[in-house]
Amino acid sequence: IPSEAPAARPTPMMEQYIEIKSANPDCLLFYRMGDFYEMFFEDAEVASRALGIALTKRGKHLGEDIPMCGVPVERADDYLQRLIAAGFRVAVCEQTEDPKEARKRGAKSVVRRAVVRLVTPGTLTEDALLEPRAANLLVAVARGRSEAGGMIFGVAQVDVSTGAFSVGEASAAGLGAALARRDPSEILIPETLAEELAAALGETRAAVTPVGRDIADPARAEARLARHFAVAAAEAFGLSKPELSAAAMIVGYLERTQLASRPPLARPVREGRGAVMEIDAATRANLELTRRLSGEREGSLLDAVDRCVTAGGSRLLAQRIAGPLLDPDAIAARHDAVQALIDAPELRRAVRAALGRAPDLARAAQRVAFGRGGPRDLAAIRDALKAAEALAERLAALETAPDELAVIAAALAGADHAMADELAATLADELPLNKRDGGFVRHGCDAELDSTRSLRDESRKVIAGLQAAYAEATEIRTLRIKHNNVLGYFIEAPQQHGERLLKPPHAETFVHRQTMAGAMRFTTTELGDLERRIAEAADTVLRCELATFDRLAARVTESWESCRACADALAGLDVAAGLAEVAVEQNLTRPHVDDSLEFRLEGARHPVVEAALRREGKPFVANDADLSAPDDGGGLIQLVTGPNMGGKSTYLRQAALCAVLAQAGAFVPAAAAHIGAVDRLFSRVGAADDLARGRSTFMVEMVETAAILNSAGPRALVILDEIGRGTATFDGLSIAWAAIEHLHEVNRCRALFATHFHELTALSKRLPRLRNATVRVAEWKGEVVFLHEVAPGVADRSYGIQVAKLAGLPPSVVRRAKAVLDELEAADRASPVERMIDDLPLFAATRARPEPEGEPVLEALDAVDPDALTPREALDALYRLKALR
Ligand code: ADP
Repeated sequence: IPSEAPAARPTPMMEQYIEIKSANPDCLLFYRMGDFYEMFFEDAEVASRALGIALTKRGKHLGEDIPMCGVPVERADDYLQRLIAAGFRVAVCEQTEDPKEARKRGAKSVVRRAVVRLVTPGTLTEDALLEPRAANLLVAVARGRSEAGGMIFGVAQVDVSTGAFSVGEASAAGLGAALARRDPSEILIPETLAEELAAALGETRAAVTPVGRDIADPARAEARLARHFAVAAAEAFGLSKPELSAAAMIVGYLERTQLASRPPLARPVREGRGAVMEIDAATRANLELTRRLSGEREGSLLDAVDRCVTAGGSRLLAQRIAGPLLDPDAIAARHDAVQALIDAPELRRAVRAALGRAPDLARAAQRVAFGRGGPRDLAAIRDALKAAEALAERLAALETAPDELAVIAAALAGADHAMADELAATLADELPLNKRDGGFVRHGCDAELDSTRSLRDESRKVIAGLQAAYAEATEIRTLRIKHNNVLGYFIEAPQQHGERLLKPPHAETFVHRQTMAGAMRFTTTELGDLERRIAEAADTVLRCELATFDRLAARVTESWESCRACADALAGLDVAAGLAEVAVEQNLTRPHVDDSLEFRLEGARHPVVEAALRREGKPFVANDADLSAPDDGGGLIQLVTGPNMGGKSTYLRQAALCAVLAQAGAFVPAAAAHIGAVDRLFSRVGAADDLARGRSTFMVEMVETAAILNSAGPRALVILDEIGRGTATFDGLSIAWAAIEHLHEVNRCRALFATHFHELTALSKRLPRLRNATVRVAEWKGEVVFLHEVAPGVADRSYGIQVAKLAGLPPSVVRRAKAVLDELEAADRASPVERMIDDLPLFAATRARPEPEGEPVLEALDAVDPDALTPREALDALYRLKALR
């Protein structure tokens, strides 16, 4: 941009910029100018603020200064990552011709430019932009009809960084859980569904991208998929209509955003419906399955059991923990593999050592096949394939390998070892990051390359000789031959000596180029010739190397499917070996999972709390739990009372975590475990515990409790912690009371219920499948000591005042509280609760009247208090009500 453009007309370059920008209004435009990506106008203001970089001006547009900021191309990844993390989308606009070409067209012509790629959260492939141990998913949601005619959603997911592509279905009520399980970075929805999906989308942290009919047209879905995968008909994939629509949205979106080259995609794999445990977003967050409430991975269940040594292994484990299986046979197959590696410690050690030398094959192969790879990606593929070869041999030593390991061994043995050899033979030992830096082809692979390289290196030596010769001839000892990008090679002499070269006899040889502060620069015909020879040789070297790179990349692209299969096998092996490792290290046990309604844990522990206590040198007290359904079929409800800090939450959560681990295929922290497969896991924590999520309203607690009571079936496992805490005592007690009755009579599922309402323990008199349990405490010299032991029975006191004292409340306040408590307790003997237990008919409404259709809606409606809602909550409640239909 010329610095003083005429006020009235934009410069040709600004015209080009404005045209490209207006075609990509929802993105920041990275406009390539030499070694920088520049941003202008509002983009510059926004980006300079987001990135904390200087905002400058360049030229004028319609008489006004043009704000500008830029990032160096070399460091663009860094800035991209920060912009994407801050929620922006970026359009990368490159120069698509050599500036020389543009000059040929005329002095004023602008270099041609085009957007080659839209960078969005769900379409990243660069290592610098990705978390190595987390998948980066792009998900699409499409609405359609199930075969039975009901409304159903197709959900497709792709990890652009590996090419893994799968699809499934979700009911309207299950969509939130289906999205939460995938934990995508970006979700595509048809723009027409934005409002309908608002509640389900609220369950994820993903960026939502509404797309128009051009991408989300179900009528064109099949054709689009068939074209992309070059099959005659998309029917071949065996997908339902909504699944096809969702998968086609993904393909259409990638065509739209990845303009320069398309990422390779595996054929979509169909996930069986009901194959995984359904866990809604609140439950997931609350149990901290794959990340803490505060967002980090550290301290989550996943973190506690992840001993994988490869990034691919950690990604697979995360996926398994997020979606535990239901089929006991499939679960047992995973347990068998873990057991086999526990039983063979030597093998396990060797396997893990070999895996440690396997880089991220899936992502490296994807980048290469996508045209975004570099020499180091080729090396990663080489090393991973070499590791696979070694591992296949190791596994062959297992005489009776369980099925899962046998399948893995076969996949590893079948990897493209010839390609690994070719890569090993071709790649140099030290590799540059970018292929354009050259030097990555091993000496001795290519005769032409080697001879041109020596020509180039010879010429460099000649230059050194020339410098010595010139220094002698001119008697300037400090004369140097240097190189820069503007002048190329030049001769530099200090100012006072340089003057001499301008005069005879030297002036015949030395041609003046530049005068700097304190130095003068010259060239000679000889140097010019040499320079040309070096440049030509260097060009030829680079051309040869790039041709070699392209050949290798084409080879990898051909082998892409096989690389993926090998990467999956490496990940599967890493997960099995890592779970075996953690099982030995943490003393975990193989659980027995079947189709029964048992739930029996002996000596169970909470893996995360245990690890935290161990760091402080404190022991964890193991506890039993038994929720197994007696003969009449309904599951037991365990009602746990006891003082705050006694260990109630820990006890509840460890039961849920054991179910998740067992069904994910891991061993569990318990002495023994028998679990009838849990199909849905629910967990609800009282409002006061939920502040971290920033939505601590009682309404949210109730809506979620309502969802549990309305949908928990006989195979569910329900964890309710301090329900009713967020409201006045009697309200809370009544709600907790009614919820327990409903669980017992209607849901009839296995449940754990922790409460500080001691009154509720009286319910066990009336509800045959309700068991009271309490966390034991001891009193010692007036102080309370938590034993963390869960025992049958009822807590005799709440110890609230003792806990408060422990917390350091002033002694005067503690004394006064004690006095008040004594008064209250005296009055409480006249409490109506005991009497009520005998008088109040048990959940009469439900028992007398089988639930008519639509009742859940009415119940949920009853729970809504219109006067207490913010507009946003009202909208959420409306969606929930609609979802109950
Ligand atoms: P509550 O829900 O009853 O208030 P928590 O389950 O939150 O209590 O436990 C409070 C603390 O007690 C935990 O942070 C942990 O340090 C300790 N704790 C809980 N359970 C155990 C246990 N089984 N063994 C040892 N320490 C425990």
